[in-house]
Amino acid sequence: MQAKRGLLVVISAPSGGGKTTVIHEILKTNDDLFQYSISATTRKPRGREQDGVDYYFISEEEFKRRIEASEFIEWARVHGHYYGTPKKPIDDAISSGKIIFLDIDVQGGLEVKKKYGDDALLIFIMPPSIEELEKRLRGRKTESDEEIARRLAAVPVEIEKSKYYDAVVVNNDLSETVRKVKDMIYKTYQAKAGGSRAHD
Ligand code: 5GP
Repeated sequence: MQAKRGLLVVISAPSGGGKTTVIHEILKTNDDLFQYSISATTRKPRGREQDGVDYYFISEEEFKRRIEASEFIEWARVHGHYYGTPKKPIDDAISSGKIIFLDIDVQGGLEVKKKYGDDALLIFIMPPSIEELEKRLRGRKTESDEEIARRLAAVPVEIEKSKYYDAVVVNNDLSETVRKVKDMIYKTYQAKAGGSRAHD
């Protein structure tokens, strides 16, 4: 049995908090049901990121055109760049009963909750400590010192906003975090469907 309406799963975390890894681990487990919302951004690709896979990398001019054309369900300026969630895949996922993951910041998450209410589940992944976060950010060697400082400076505000999220999961151990997040998602989805659905 499949739910009539899908579910938007917003995963937020401070930069370097491990949310992208958590999302990828979960996406691998149920291809039929899970989808990923690819955001548009004006920042440049980092490391091995690919256009149309990790993000749609677009110019500021094109980004502003899309805002005007109401092509985003939400958009925000984060760490000096624009990021936005394209509307069409979200609408399609909801109407076809899919679970779609949004890797977006806390401002975006709260905006999604305002617009989508019970169709959205907001999960915040909390790093075990600021020291660990800084270590991971430096370890990935994809940002300049200035960029790292900017990302670390945003952490207290992000943590403050996480109190409005449906759940906060401390990421001490990746597989444990993945299990907890998956459980929450299936429970919420099943409750919405008003019935049971087997999962792996
Ligand atoms: P990064 O540049 O590290 O990929 O992402 C920086 C921040 O922007 C992260 O917190 C990420 O979740 C957030 N982000 C990515 N896409 C979107 C989006 O479409 N909307 C919003 N509001 N934030 C986004």
